[in-house]
Amino acid sequence: MIYDAIIVGGGLAGLQAAIQLGRYSAHNVLVVDAGGGRSSLCRNYHNILGWPDGVPGEELRVKGRLQAESTGVEFQMDRIIKAKKQDGMIRLHGAGGQQYECRTLLLATGVMDRFPELPGLLPALGMTVYVCPDCDGYEIQDRQTVLLGSGDVGANMAFILRERTGDLTYINHERAPVSTENRKRLEVEDIQYIEDPVSHIDEQNGIIKGVALENGTMLPAERGFIAFGHNPVHSELAAQLGVTLHKNKHVEADTRSLMTNIDHVWVAGDVAVHAEQATVAMGEGAIAGIWMHKALKKMSPPSLPPAKNRSAAR
Ligand SMILES: Cc1cc2nc3c(=O)[nH]c(=O)nc-3n(C[C@H](O)[C@H](O)[C@H](O)COP(=O)(O)OP(=O)(O)OC[C@H]3O[C@@H](n4cnc5c(N)ncnc54)[C@H](O)[C@@H]3O)c2cc1C
Repeated sequence: MIYDAIIVGGGLAGLQAAIQLGRYSAHNVLVVDAGGGRSSLCRNYHNILGWPDGVPGEELRVKGRLQAESTGVEFQMDRIIKAKKQDGMIRLHGAGGQQYECRTLLLATGVMDRFPELPGLLPALGMTVYVCPDCDGYEIQDRQTVLLGSGDVGANMAFILRERTGDLTYINHERAPVSTENRKRLEVEDIQYIEDPVSHIDEQNGIIKGVALENGTMLPAERGFIAFGHNPVHSELAAQLGVTLHKNKHVEADTRSLMTNIDHVWVAGDVAVHAEQATVAMGEGAIAGIWMHKALKKMSPPSLPPAKNRSAAR
């Protein structure tokens, strides 16, 4: 079966694109998703229009899939490991040996946050422990906040968070180097600096109470942040297709249509070059869907529904 459109990645970008494409009622569309992703990690988004009390990523994903399926979009659980364009067709290989073919492709494969496996961290992510100051700086305003991180990446995050709270501790969990300049600035800005591994996060129902160090110290906290850096960008398939990557490995694309330099290959969401935010991912999914539809219409002009016989009504 040759699909008009395949979307690799069923996170927020991929799902919004699927809904957009499905609602044209004109294309056979498949979403291939490996499960997981950042939207599965975030227990609560706080900055989305219409959800003042927040909405869990998993809820958006479940509802998004149902909404896309109701328009006829198909879903397949698989991890695509190989992508190739040949004779105008794009061929994808799944990890289990299955092959897929399509005329247009959307890469919505996202990025992944790098962080250590610390007991208590996962249930608090997005609830009271955050990753993105643009999304959740608001949540730590004047609150006792503990930042877990690594080296200068963590230090630089600390300087951003310091704009929000005067009670900030930075724990360099990995004991990675921090420049002399940053060490001085941490001191000048009264950010408590600790170079010790963390053993676990003390939390209840996602509400952080404190951060426990391996040396037995317990640091009380009302809010937490993580910043370990080196987040893997899932742009391997793009690279295989010859798509231009930015120097940070994110995928570049035309700013208007989000089509990459490879004809009929689009990109949307965190894997693209922009702010890594839920609403941006959704917006880009919609834009990519619109332009994929335009391209598909050029390939096969739509058949018009039969005209209504108006003379009978006169
Ligand atoms: C803890 C946390 C809190 C956050 N809080 C906020 C917030 O408050 N506000 C905000 O705006 N944003 C927030 N974000 C960011 C937001 O979650 C992302 O911007 C959003 O999830 C991006 O959507 P996406 O579809 O690009 O990627 P994702 O949601 O990560 O989805 C990508 C999907 O692609 C799939 N995939 C990847 N590679 C393959 C492959 N080869 N084959 C098949 N499938 C594949 C993955 O399995 C995944 O399902 C937060 C992120 C985290 C981690």
